[in-house]
Amino acid sequence: MKRTSILSSFSRIVCFLLLMLTITIFSCKKSAELDIAQDSTINIDPSIIAKIKALGFQTKGITEFQEYYIVEGDIMISKESLSSTKSPEKLMGVGGRISQASTNNLISSISNHNINISVDASIYGDITWYNALKKAVTVWNSTSNSNVKLNLIYTSLTDYSLDPTNIDIVIKDDNNQLGSDEVARAKFPTDDNKPGNLILINRNVKIPFTDNYLNDGQAAWNVIHEIGHCLGLRHTNWQTNDPPTSIGENLIAGTPTSDPNSVMNGSTGLSDYSAYTYPLLPSNYDAIAISILYPVNNGSLVVPYISGNKYFSPYGEDYFKMSYLAQGVSYHWRAIGINGTVYDETIGTFTTETTPGIGFPASGNYQLQCTVSGGKYTTPVTATKNIVVQ
Ligand SMILES: [Zn+2]
Repeated sequence: MKRTSILSSFSRIVCFLLLMLTITIFSCKKSAELDIAQDSTINIDPSIIAKIKALGFQTKGITEFQEYYIVEGDIMISKESLSSTKSPEKLMGVGGRISQASTNNLISSISNHNINISVDASIYGDITWYNALKKAVTVWNSTSNSNVKLNLIYTSLTDYSLDPTNIDIVIKDDNNQLGSDEVARAKFPTDDNKPGNLILINRNVKIPFTDNYLNDGQAAWNVIHEIGHCLGLRHTNWQTNDPPTSIGENLIAGTPTSDPNSVMNGSTGLSDYSAYTYPLLPSNYDAIAISILYPVNNGSLVVPYISGNKYFSPYGEDYFKMSYLAQGVSYHWRAIGINGTVYDETIGTFTTETTPGIGFPASGNYQLQCTVSGGKYTTPVTATKNIVVQ
């Protein structure tokens, strides 16, 4: 509803003062992401509140969803996990107050820390958030001393060369589950040492006092942050934001007593990654933190995938996407005939992950090959995808 009332001078002054006050709060908190405006805990079963309290989380502002609870703004606790919680672990100081922190559960080294992120159509179809995701993945993958290898899998394309059970994280629109001032939420790693498996993005959030959605840099900041949670990083400012919990605030050595540039600070939903140097993490201490959790093994292999159509008609054409994005990586594409089809065509070498339009001249069976080389891993790897032209 559009409002065009004329305010009395008194109420105009009150409104002005309120506006100034709110601007002041926003300018020092930089927050649209995590603040709980109201206490939604009152509708939660007291036994559940007790369990969440026993885990050490704040009990103000708990929100219930079908399969999980949200605590402290953007942390998901699955209902399933509440029935099998670990006993609280004592925090051990490492040379005084240290800010960057990890959860107790971390990701195992199975698959050489290859982590597959399914890109839901709701994100793929949104240019701001899709670009933010690509940027965020490139940032984490390019962190020189970390072994994290994120792969983007396009479940919205008709065929992707990956068993769906190998998807580790799904990123998708929140479908109106999040509050109007909450940008995103993510899950922490599980006690079977898998990454947190869900990131929800609220694409409807607007910058306060404007009619503008988050810009590209703000979107990128938020996706970098939420992926950090899925990898086991808690908020860097946990000492002021979150109390110690049995989920764990395991202090990470080599990080400072406070770090205003950390992408993992809580309540930073309006921070803008454009102010930082791509593809570096905003704070070098973020890079140190992830590298201590998952130290790089330069000899380890990326396990990449090709997303795109499997079935073509002769001279039909489509684009294909390579899953692994990182600084300094190039992609060499080739198509060969298989199962009796004679064909061998070098498509070319590119520095972006999406091919130009690729087609096949005649009915038959083909294999598309993409060799990924460059970047911090020394051994080139080749992903293949079989194509049927009929
Ligand atoms: Zn967070």
